[in-house]
Amino acid sequence: MRQYIFILFFVFLSHPITFAQDTDFTAAASATITAEAVQKLSKAITFQTTSDVDEQEFRYSEFLDLHDYLGEAFPALHQQLQKEVVNGYSLLYTWLGTDPDLPPVLLSAHMDVVPVEEETKEDWQQQPYAGTVKDGYIWGRGSLDDKYRVIAIMEAVEQLLQQGYSPERTIYLAFGHDEEIGGTEGAGKISEYLQEQGVKLEAVFDEGLAVAKGVLPGIDEPIAFIGTAAKGGMNLQLKVKGEGGHSSAPPLDTPVSILSAALNRLQNKPFEARMIPTTKETMELMAGKLGGKYKFAMRHYGLFKGKILKMLAKDQATGALIRTQMTPTVLEAGDTYNVMPRMAKAILNIRILNGEDQETVIKHVTETVNDERVQIEMKGTYTPPSPITPTDTWTYAALEQSIRETFPEVALVVPALFPGSTDARHYTNLTNNIYRFGPQVVTREKAQLVHNVDERLEVEVFEKSIAFYKTLLRQTCGNLPLQVVMQQEESELLPDVTNK
Ligand SMILES: [Zn+2]
Repeated sequence: MRQYIFILFFVFLSHPITFAQDTDFTAAASATITAEAVQKLSKAITFQTTSDVDEQEFRYSEFLDLHDYLGEAFPALHQQLQKEVVNGYSLLYTWLGTDPDLPPVLLSAHMDVVPVEEETKEDWQQQPYAGTVKDGYIWGRGSLDDKYRVIAIMEAVEQLLQQGYSPERTIYLAFGHDEEIGGTEGAGKISEYLQEQGVKLEAVFDEGLAVAKGVLPGIDEPIAFIGTAAKGGMNLQLKVKGEGGHSSAPPLDTPVSILSAALNRLQNKPFEARMIPTTKETMELMAGKLGGKYKFAMRHYGLFKGKILKMLAKDQATGALIRTQMTPTVLEAGDTYNVMPRMAKAILNIRILNGEDQETVIKHVTETVNDERVQIEMKGTYTPPSPITPTDTWTYAALEQSIRETFPEVALVVPALFPGSTDARHYTNLTNNIYRFGPQVVTREKAQLVHNVDERLEVEVFEKSIAFYKTLLRQTCGNLPLQVVMQQEESELLPDVTNK
């Protein structure tokens, strides 16, 4: 089916977009527009929209102030799109298309940010909520995650409206207010609301992976990764009870020793390593760039499976792609130097690979611990691994094309497993086509800035993200898609010769 994507690729190339282009503007006017957009992101950062599991810490009023500001900053959008406030603090905008028969697309982003820890405030080079623009960067909490996408999407729509663009396909803009704490009250409620109305979506575009530069050893060219699958997650508590008493005469086994032994067994018996179809696709596409050895190995995957998995397991980043992983995060036992604790507890944070679930995870942990004195219990919510998004669709091709147009330096566009989870998880009932991709350029260093001190985004990358969403909207909702849909229907009649 890969061939089919190339067919579409040529369709895009042979049908240039004919409506108003940015070239209609003078360079000076376009520079002014860019400067204004940067100011909008800068201002959006000044609202301290932190979400928090603790209701007291949730800064609800900041969200309402941000809503007001967005109304001022994007007048055309607010005049022509329908705005609904969902569950008090999330936003859903509807841009009606001219053809009601086309299933809508939904662009998802979130307005909430993680808090700035009190003890790190001094470490910031620029104040985290000042929205400072300096040295080519927009600084502050939310500049990378995820306010730049909220503003880039809205700016793209604003500019398209000003250029007289009218979509054929309906577009939803869905901005949640609690992604950082699970998204149940924001994206979760938006999704419920759309399902109640019987909406079926063509595709969802959310945050996730990005254009990666120098992230993989041996590859210098930037590669765009699109998250077409996401891992699930859950937390298990391991608890051991004991008798307590004075630590001068301990029994052979104490809660701490029993718990340590259990954690040790888990460390030594990880989940089975395996390649899900998405990762196999990633590897196949990247094999050429990785060099002859890998190319050969991937071509004869059956033969070299063990070796390939072993190699992927070695690196932290690729290791996450091939198995369910568990990490002890919280440990709790005694609090007095000479008193044996009556209880020892550990939390295992588990990221579940597609194909496994709650039951298979608990089974592996229970069998590996193999000690009845250790009580195993689930804590918090369970997020199942996502369904796998197909890549042989016109929406995937449109996304790939939008990436290539915006980031011409990209050598490859590759589907990949996203090891985390985002608001996208709430939309799985509405479409099979869920894409997790943020239009930004990430290096190993820059990836560290998310949720961290000195979070900042290059002005240049922000500009590109606006251009990206304009292209993506036109590719998926403009005049062009009709031709693509026609091509798709025709090509479905063609035999699949690629044996995939
Ligand atoms: Zn985010």
